[in-house]
Order: sequence, then structure tokens, then C-alpha cells
Amino acid sequence: MRVPFFTPDISESEIQEVVDCLRSGWLTTGPRTKQFEERFAEYVGAKYAVALNSCTAALHLALEAIGIERGDLVLVPTFTFAATAEVVRYFDAIPVFVDAEPTTLCMDPEATERCLTALQRGDKVPGLPSEHGPVKAMIPVHYGGQMVDVDRFRALAQRFDIALLEDAAHTLPAYCRSNAGAPWRSAGSTADITCFSFYANKCITTGEGGMAVTDRQDLADRMRVMSLHGMSKDAWKRFTASGSWYYEIVAPGFKYNLTDIAAAIGLKQLERANALWQERRRVASALSEGLLDVPEIELPVELSDRQHSWHLFPIRLRLEKLGIDRAAFIEELKAAGIGSSVHWMPLHMHPYYVDTYGYSAEDFPVAAAAWPRLVSLPIFPLMTAEQCGIVVDVVKDIVRRHPRR
Ligand SMILES: *Cc1c(COP(=O)(O)O)cnc(C)c1O
Repeated sequence: MRVPFFTPDISESEIQEVVDCLRSGWLTTGPRTKQFEERFAEYVGAKYAVALNSCTAALHLALEAIGIERGDLVLVPTFTFAATAEVVRYFDAIPVFVDAEPTTLCMDPEATERCLTALQRGDKVPGLPSEHGPVKAMIPVHYGGQMVDVDRFRALAQRFDIALLEDAAHTLPAYCRSNAGAPWRSAGSTADITCFSFYANKCITTGEGGMAVTDRQDLADRMRVMSLHGMSKDAWKRFTASGSWYYEIVAPGFKYNLTDIAAAIGLKQLERANALWQERRRVASALSEGLLDVPEIELPVELSDRQHSWHLFPIRLRLEKLGIDRAAFIEELKAAGIGSSVHWMPLHMHPYYVDTYGYSAEDFPVAAAAWPRLVSLPIFPLMTAEQCGIVVDVVKDIVRRHPRR
């Protein structure tokens, strides 16, 4: 591969910290995890952070903490990764899909408002079974690393009295502001609970890992207890000098805690988060500038009141101008030694959701129309200027060789 889709950027400092952790004799959740939580909370501007072994676990515990029950409705973008909706199904609750907004492909606040209003009135909503409970929450996703219109989602959450959980798996860091004069706000400081991912190819990584952050102590406490078997607070300390041998099970919890080995990687990655972000921004600029004048391609845009984390660089092919489809385009990239991916096939088009809720592709026209056009190009901190140039040249070459006839 001349340009892989992604390679993680692990420095000597992460390696040394893992070695130190291994030598310390404390491998599972312990002092490094505590420190990682404290520093992470400070970095994103939240009061509490709970380190977990995935973002999926964080989303699950977030829904549990706000009291999701069987039959409840949770609004979720159709244009997201499996995890955002599957966690709703863990409760036998119902994910209600919402279409994407055409410019950013984030969950559309207007479509969300229409959906909430229709549910309130008892009007028909695609996919909704005849028997269901109340709407309890929504989980907008900061697609690719660009934050959703947080102000509008907060206003909707307040007006309809539902919880706002954010799937921030693609951000670290990312910022938004209400207008040009307003202060920047970090992802992690704008929702009831925000969930981050440290999966291998996310903005910072611990191999596998996640974090749930909140300003509410009750939610943080509940997530912490449920992350470790429902054991009463700080059960992990029970084997340390300051801890006690005594614990109580207060609920049938889960096993979602992060190891100190993973936290060791996370601590050093977090120290480098801004530097890694600068590198991704460099790559995004190089690709954007290089592909600016290619009419067959629609580039991702950074809105003026956002700071994009550039986890992904998804382009949309203008198929009406091309003689090949997306699959052939990806084959051409591969033949030229360039890795790529697709984020995503909308969830309402996957067999499980079609079979369970009877969705059809046209229910969400923006997401359905975007899907066959999407290709995520490589973007990662270690991507060299030369590799950026290769991607630009190859994309231009493919487009030139395959005009619409
Ligand atoms: C990666 C991802 C997740 C899941 O993260 P894990 O840490 O792998 O559980 C959730 N939502 C989105 C949008 C993602 O891209």
C-alpha cells in the first residue's frame, strides 16, 4: 500500500508508559485510569469522566443512567455506525431514525423537530411500531469529526423534555460556537452525556476504549457503578491499602471498565491530542486544496462556527458526471495502492432494521442519496505530504479516465 487507509500514531512515550504500567504490578483499572479520567474531563471541559472499554459501552451506560426502559423511543441518525442504534435495542427500546442534513451529513435538526412533533401529535412516523413508550432521548453523532448544530438539539431536548446524549466517537478535539462572537465550546461540554471512542483508528486510541463524560454527578456515579458489576462506588479500590474488602451489589451491572494498560496509552495519546489534530488538519487542507477544482467530487466542508477534528475525509462522487460507480472507483484506488473505506450505509437500509421495523430506503432521502456516492479517503497524522499528493493525483487521474459519456 502506498497510502493505507489509516495507521495509528504511537510514539515512544506511549510505549514507555505501557512498560511502566506493566512493571508497576497494577494492570486493570487503577491509578492510571483515574488520572486518564481526570485529565480527559479537564481537556473537554466536563466535570466527570468515566473510562470504559469502548464507546459502545459508554453509549449503553449513558442510556441506562438516564433510565431507558423497554419500549421507549430514542431518536438516532440513520446515518451512523451500528453502535449508536444497537445500544437502544439492548433495552428492547426502539431506535427512531432521523435523516441527515445534506451539507454535513450530521443528524438534521429540522428533521428531528418534525419527528418529535409528529410523535407528540401521534402522527405516523416511519418505522414506528403501533405499541411504544414515550420519547426519552436523542443521540446525534458528530459525523466525521464535525459537531452537529448543538444549540438546536439542546433547544429541542429542553422543549420536548428529553435527554441529549452525543456520540462523539469521531471527535477529539472538536469545537462549535453559536455565532462569530460567541466562545468556542468543546465536544464533551454540550450534552447531558457525551461518549468518546478510543478504537484503534479514532482521534486518540487505547487500542479499544471509550469515555463517558457529564456534568451531572448522579449520572457519572450510576455509569461508574454499572461499569463494574453494579458494585458500590469505587469497588476497584477494594484491593488497595485505602480500599476496603467490603462491597455491595446494588444492581446487575456490566463489565465495561478500562484497564490501566489501555489508560497508559490513553494518557500519552491525550497529551498529544492537539499535535495529532494539527497533523490531521494539515492532511485535510492538502486534500481539500488538491481536489478543490475537481467538479466530479464533492468535498467535506467545515462550517464557519465549527472546528472539525478531521477524523474522516469523506468525499461524495458526482455520479452523474462519472462513467464509473463507487465500487469501481474504490477498485481503482486500491489498484493504485490507496486504501479507502465507506462511512456508512445508512442503518435503515440494513437487513436487521428493514426486517424489524419495515423501513424502506426512501424514508430518509438525504442519507439514501448520499450512500452510493460516499468514499472515505485516507487521513491520519502520519500521512506525509507526498502521500497526500499521491491521493490527489490518483483521484484526479481516475476521474479523468472515467468521464460520463
Ligand atoms: C467507532 C464508533 C462507535 C463505537 O466505538 P467503539 O469504541 O468501537 O465502541 C460509535 N459510534 C460511532 C459513530 C463510531 O464511529
